[in-house]
This record gives sequence, C-alpha cells and structure tokens, in this order.
Amino acid sequence: MKLKMNYKLATKCLYSDKEGTSCDKSGAISFPIYQSATFAHPGVGNSTGYDYSRLQNPTREHLEDIVCSLESGYDALAFSSGMAAISALMEIFSPGDHIISGNDLYGGSIRLFDNINHKNQITFDYIDTGNDDIESYITPSTKAIYVETPTNPMMNVTDIVKVAAIAKKHNLLFIVDNTFLSPYFQNPLVLGADIVIHSGTKFLGGHNDTLAGFLVVNSAELSEKLRFIIKTIGSGLAPFDSWLILRGIKTLSIRMERQQKNAIKIVAWLQTNEKVKNVYYPGLPDHPGYEISKKQSRGFGSMLTFEVETSDLALKILSSVQLIHFAESLGGVETLITYPMTQTHADLSQEKREETGITPTILRLSVGIEDIDDLIYDLSQAF
Ligand SMILES: *Cc1c(COP(=O)(O)O)cnc(C)c1O
Repeated sequence: MKLKMNYKLATKCLYSDKEGTSCDKSGAISFPIYQSATFAHPGVGNSTGYDYSRLQNPTREHLEDIVCSLESGYDALAFSSGMAAISALMEIFSPGDHIISGNDLYGGSIRLFDNINHKNQITFDYIDTGNDDIESYITPSTKAIYVETPTNPMMNVTDIVKVAAIAKKHNLLFIVDNTFLSPYFQNPLVLGADIVIHSGTKFLGGHNDTLAGFLVVNSAELSEKLRFIIKTIGSGLAPFDSWLILRGIKTLSIRMERQQKNAIKIVAWLQTNEKVKNVYYPGLPDHPGYEISKKQSRGFGSMLTFEVETSDLALKILSSVQLIHFAESLGGVETLITYPMTQTHADLSQEKREETGITPTILRLSVGIEDIDDLIYDLSQAF
C-alpha cells in the first residue's frame, strides 16, 4: 500500500492523492478509459462501487479526485460542460430564493440565470462584488453570493476572504467561478468559499478539444446534494472526455507558467502601443485589483482585455490576425482573440454591456504557449 503524501500542486496534477487510484492492476501509467455504461454486480446487494456510468465511472472518478485535490475540496463532480455544472448547481435552490451575483460574468451564466433560473422563480441582483456594499443587498430570501474573480472580460477582482466573511456571517453559500486562474493560481475554498466552479473546457483541459465542467465543494452536505442531482439529471462527464481532461491537467503547471509569461510580455507591448487606450490585467500595479490579487492568488494568469481607439480598429485587428485565432473560449495552448460584444456577451442587453464597460472597442486575449516573438509580430501587423 502506498503512503498518502502531501504533494505540491504541480505533482497533484499527475497523481491522485487517494491511495491506490493512480494505477489499475495492469500498472497502466495513463489511467484507463472505462468505456462502459454499466457494471456487473458480484452478487445481490453487492457492488464493485460502480453500478452505472450516470452515477459514477472509474475514469470520471479519477479525474474528480485530481480536481478535488487541486482545489483542496471535500468532493469534486465532473460535468459535461461548465454550463452543465452551473445548471446542476442551480438545482440546489428553490423558488423564491435570491442570489447576489457579480455583474461581470461569463455571458452564458447570465443567460442561464435570467432565462432558465429566473423562470423557476430564483431572483438575482447583479452588483460589483469588488466594490459595492454586498450586505445592503441581502434580504431574508438571499441564499448565496456568486462571483467570478478575475471577471470575464473586464478582469475585475473581488476580495475572496472579505466576501467569505460576509457569507459566513449571514449564513449564505459562497460560490466562486475559478475558471480564469485555474486551481494552479487560486484556491477559493482555502480562502473561505463553499463551492468552486470550473469550466474544464478552459485551462484544465487546456487544448481546446473537449468541453467539461466541475463543481468542487467543501462539505459532505453539499457533496450529497450534488451527487443526487448529477445522477438524477444525468449531466456527468463521459469516460473519454474525462480521460482527455486528465491528460490536459498533467501539463497544467507548465502551461499556466508559460501562458502567464507570454501574457505579461504582451501586456507590456500593448502598453507601449499608442492606439491602445487601456489594458486590463490584474498583474499591472495600477490595476485596482493588484494588491488583492497578490494576496489571494499565486499568479495573474494569461487572460487580458484591452481597449483600442476605435471600433473600426478593433474590427480590423480581428480580421487581420493570422497566427492568433479569432474564436470564443480561452485557456488553451493556442492564443485566441475574442470580441465580447458579439461573441461571449452577445446575449446581454446593450444597457448591461455598457454598465460593465463591454464596448465595441474592447478585445479580449487568451494567451497561449506560442513563441512570444511570433505573437507580438502577429499583433503588430494586425494593428
Ligand atoms: C466558458 C466559461 C463557462 C462555461 O463553461 P462551458 O464549458 O463553456 O460550458 C463558465 N464560466 C466561465 C468563467 C467560463 O469562461
């Protein structure tokens, strides 16, 4: 029997810290894909621990163990996409419940809240969780505070420890979408959150090849509720996709470091470009979230947003990049440029977009692992 070790993050990306789960009896170093819908029972009232893959599958379970350990959680659940994870999470709320949410969220999350959850009589207040007085929005129906930090796409930072204290005082669930920094750079549960969300499609998978989502929780009670939901609604991640995300996570540490290094160089280049009006990156000392980021994160990540002089220039850049792809999504090894206005945030009202500063001159970059010289060359020719 192997000893349970207290591994550091880069090692945890490769090995589950649960005893005996890293290898099956063949000794396979790459965890096998258990492509089976159902599992035979050794006898009546007996189970191998696996009955049916909607409930659990060994490949999915191994992935969940790794993500759980990366976030220092009590349990992690893997879903077929980030939105599947958030939809499942919303099932723990009831008609009449109220949620205080950040106002600069992934567009798909707002679409879910305003169309599906709202229809089920769950109400939302969208506020600036980094600056507004959260307590003044709490009502007797409030059940949770929901934040992304840094936010998408404006890179606003919320103080996780501060909001965790408010949530605790008022007995609210504190939910943090940690997609932008990944568990490699930030661990909200350790800072006092109750539930962490990931779109595993992004940094965890890292190769722009699979959709996945995660919920990581800090208690047996939440784990039990969500395990009931995942088996009932059937949105768990498939075995092959679980394996792809496992393979992606193996290189999370080196990808995060390299992508951040490239991002910092692009930020510096953008700052010297006179056609760029603003650069939003939490690693800039004059970014309002810089000090909080340094306190709560181990890195600033590889997402950055910038504002150019005119919308014509923004459109020109989008149509002129050659190496960089004009595409939605983020976190992968390939650098992507996004136009939040017509892509990720297209479904928001004009008013809501303006409130958070998403204008036709705003572009978002997810920086990949390419050679930095090639990236800067591509950006300069596109400008
Ligand atoms: C992409 C994303 C989601 C949704 O995840 P999918 O895997 O695309 O369903 C949720 N939150 C954030 C911050 C995201 O970037």
